Amino acid sequence: MKYSNNIRLRFAPSPTGFLHIGSLRTALFNYVIAKKLGGKLILRIEDTDQKREVEGATEKLINILDWIGIKFDEGSHIGGDFGPYTQSQRQDVYKKYSDKLLKNNKAYYCFCTSERLQKMREDQQAKKLAPRYDKKCRNLNEKEINQKIKSGAKFVIRQKMPLDGEIKVFDELRGEIKFQAKDLEDHVLIKSNNIPTYQFASVVDDHLMEVSHVVRGDEWIASFPKNVLLYQAFGWEIPKFIHTPLILNKEGGKLSKRQGDVTVENYKDQGYLPEALINFSALLGWHPKDEKEILSLNETIEKFNIKDIRASSAVFDPEKLDYLNGYYIRKMPLNKLTELCSPYLIKQTTESRQQTTEFIKKVISLEQERMKKLSEIGELTEFFFVDKLQYEPELLIWKKMSLEEVKNNLGKIYTLLEKIPKQSWTNNSIQEAIMTYLQAKELKTGEYLWPMRVALTGRKASPGPFDVAEVLGKEKSLERIDLSRNKLCNVPPQL
Ligand code: GLU
Repeated sequence: MKYSNNIRLRFAPSPTGFLHIGSLRTALFNYVIAKKLGGKLILRIEDTDQKREVEGATEKLINILDWIGIKFDEGSHIGGDFGPYTQSQRQDVYKKYSDKLLKNNKAYYCFCTSERLQKMREDQQAKKLAPRYDKKCRNLNEKEINQKIKSGAKFVIRQKMPLDGEIKVFDELRGEIKFQAKDLEDHVLIKSNNIPTYQFASVVDDHLMEVSHVVRGDEWIASFPKNVLLYQAFGWEIPKFIHTPLILNKEGGKLSKRQGDVTVENYKDQGYLPEALINFSALLGWHPKDEKEILSLNETIEKFNIKDIRASSAVFDPEKLDYLNGYYIRKMPLNKLTELCSPYLIKQTTESRQQTTEFIKKVISLEQERMKKLSEIGELTEFFFVDKLQYEPELLIWKKMSLEEVKNNLGKIYTLLEKIPKQSWTNNSIQEAIMTYLQAKELKTGEYLWPMRVALTGRKASPGPFDVAEVLGKEKSLERIDLSRNKLCNVPPQL
């Protein structure tokens, strides 16, 4: 077979200005299968739908794919032997092949005006019939056609579909799927502006670019028989088709296609890492046999098997994405994480006193365990940067303690901390000083550590008090504890 040692796959997005998470999954499956089978991956830009085209969209697309880590062997941005890889630059190719079909009587000119088609559709709707072209121009003779063309009449080119019978197509995941010819219309291959439709351009390009496996979303299954009939009309070998499963949200609805929603760009801005997005989308409709969920791109390639892709719909679970992102954040070297977090800390670092990188690194290291996405870092660490904490004094109270008790305990903490020399101000020495005292006196840790932590952070939840105190430094820690006691009232401490 021609393709057996010539594995070629393509990702063929329309440049809409952003990459939908479903398209990322398609790109990823193409990439993984190409790598797994030792083949090549092509990036083809399908920009024939001029209405949807957005300025700069192709560059944006290439940048985001590069950021995510999907590399191509051929494409509009890097060239290759099968170019051009942008459909708007292949008009002459489509013309040549549509002429071929016209010549072989597999396609025909249609001169029906849009008004006529509109009326036809309305009549069909009124009769509760499916809207379908009524084949008026299917049997025009050569003379009629030439006359109309000469007179400047506008035309489209339609495919001549079988009038009856069954069309069988084969999907690698679903097996054979049957369609009835009567349900398929003579669809348009070339529009009146000479631009090909997706159905035509993609088949011609997949053939000429020697694509061996077409991996695309399952929204294309309905038009799959049209593609197969086109391959047959040309007498071309049909590549293997894999339609990836639909992605549903947790409520069972379709994943939103609203601009900016569920796009890779949006997730990037929120501070999701490429590793997490790759891992997450790999699991949208596929699972390795061992059910392992944390997978690097290389592991995905290693474990991937086309047969393990499920045909039934996949569920998009944002919590799983957060879980994976948190995992990759925890695994990240601190230097790199600090660098990635810096855009999200601009407000803090410019508004507060100039902070050293060492300080920022320490702050980030304390949140590394808890962070789910990089953009949270600003909110999570704000208390490290502000001059004066704002919080309700009641937050300092642990369980049923009285204000007086809280204030006294904070006073005790203050005295203990004050005694620690500045040069040995570490979380260990702070912990030791406080815990030794509490244990010796058999005091309840919560009654001391809770107020201490709130005094240092002003928060209900934060990293532990010893860690926070170390990063804040002795001076700042004492200042905050002092302030917390003032907040409670002006009763002098009873030490
Ligand atoms: N241009 C199509 C899209 O963006 C590609 C479908 C395919 O992969 O064939 O949906």
